[in-house]
Amino acid sequence: MTRRLLLFVGVLIAIVVTADAQRPQADLVLTNGKIITVDERFTIGQAVAIAGDRIVAVGSNDEINRLAGPAARRIDLRGRSVVPGLIDNHLHLLRAGNTWLQELRWDGVESRKKAIDMLKARAKAAGPGGWVFNIGGWAHQQFADDPRPFTREELDQVAPDNPVGLQESYYQVFLNSKALSAFGIEPGKPDPADFVKGSIQRDASGKPTGVIKGDIAATRPFAARMPKLPADQLEASTTALVRDMNRGGLTSVGVPGCNADVLEIFQKWKTAGRTPVRIFCIGGAAAGNPEGVDRSVLQVATMKLFQGDSEIDNVYFGESVYTPLHDPMFALKSNPTPDQLAQWRKLATAIAKAGLPLHVHAELHDTIDAFLDQIEAINKEYPIKNHRWALAHINQINPSQLERMKKLGMYAAVHPWAVINGAIMHEGFGDGAYDMPPLAAMQDSGIMWGLGTDGTAANQTLPFVTLYFAVTGKMAGGMKVIRQTVSREDALIAHTRRNAFFVFQENNLGAIQPGKLADLLVLDRDYLTVPADQIKDIRPVMTMVGGRIVYEAGASAATK
Ligand SMILES: [Zn+2]
Repeated sequence: MTRRLLLFVGVLIAIVVTADAQRPQADLVLTNGKIITVDERFTIGQAVAIAGDRIVAVGSNDEINRLAGPAARRIDLRGRSVVPGLIDNHLHLLRAGNTWLQELRWDGVESRKKAIDMLKARAKAAGPGGWVFNIGGWAHQQFADDPRPFTREELDQVAPDNPVGLQESYYQVFLNSKALSAFGIEPGKPDPADFVKGSIQRDASGKPTGVIKGDIAATRPFAARMPKLPADQLEASTTALVRDMNRGGLTSVGVPGCNADVLEIFQKWKTAGRTPVRIFCIGGAAAGNPEGVDRSVLQVATMKLFQGDSEIDNVYFGESVYTPLHDPMFALKSNPTPDQLAQWRKLATAIAKAGLPLHVHAELHDTIDAFLDQIEAINKEYPIKNHRWALAHINQINPSQLERMKKLGMYAAVHPWAVINGAIMHEGFGDGAYDMPPLAAMQDSGIMWGLGTDGTAANQTLPFVTLYFAVTGKMAGGMKVIRQTVSREDALIAHTRRNAFFVFQENNLGAIQPGKLADLLVLDRDYLTVPADQIKDIRPVMTMVGGRIVYEAGASAATK
């Protein structure tokens, strides 16, 4: 070999070595799978390499195997599909920590018979006199085998020795006789003062039927009366909660109202290096009257968001600005008054002036229009374009409102209440409910939209049930309730990459891409090819947050 050739070979070797050295050695490789990256080109890979908490490469088995360090852990996916960890942009997660361990949850339960069996098992475990209850997250129309509401007599028969209270979304509550007595709701006696007048249903003879009905305000006194979890059980309850979220496929959540006591538990887990779910708080200083608005305006001026990181952070003012304009969940129409809107505008102007992102509850057609009128006016003085203002829920939005939002540089945080409430919404809105929400119009409008649930009371929490709804238009249990659906690719993008943007983590989360955090799910079946009706049944066999396995099917602990 000539000197020149030797030099040339030497340079070549140096180039190859440098190229490999630039990539950190992977300490975890997942090979032999179908990696649905959800990157901008929706690339599909075969294997993925992870170093520490980040993804270093996606590629073929050979490419990825070459990156594995000598001590690397190897997972053979055996053909399984992998998707990015799912993000719910609006789930009241922390509040649920206070009750989760005690609640009889029916998320994803489609059989009334199974629900009753679960109820009986709870009654047995609680022992005579112990409460059996849930606070929303289901509706009886999800029971495909027998979609009937519960009666007092039936619940007496099923659980004769326990008070039973079953809250159906925020729509109504079913109580048995023991629960009615515990509340002091009796024939011939006046209703307890904390219940909304007229919400306690009675038959012609004045006997309580066991039903409490009348939207969110009517259900609140019931939830408030449920037994409180002892403080020393809060961590166990929160652990059970995040395990259920990880099992369902959630790795990040936008959380309205981050309860301080539960947030403290997440802080502790973070310090110990075992964050099971990333928490992005939506909070602020909502006001209920003009004096409150004045106080909130002062608070907003000093409010600091974004002092956290990619595990826990405060990212929005929300979800309420002026509470008299907070649409009730099952109202058919709203009538925002000029006085109320002036208060809303005063506080929203302060939020815009302070440069804070806003994520605000807006559901009914007239409320959405009224809010957009205010925002258009505010925007002239304090442009909101770079503050990621989002309307949340917006099941009633229409194409012209979407256009107005787009012009303002706003975003759509979509929480399809119909996933469990679809049948109830059809009772109220008739055929109009078929466009609530208008998912296809949102997709076609080009607006940035992301999916969430608004669980755990208003809605169920399982993201694959939400994806099934978005793709098939069917509510939990299979009833067709909306006609505007989207492709499974667009639905998945809305539950991952777009939501990463909604929680201000687009550089870290939402896709399986080099440089991003290793949040991913190994699925028990392929999301892209499974029959659409089975999307709701997909479950992760493994859930990973920042390269750490937080859930494995069959394993017993999640946050170890
Ligand atoms: Zn809301």
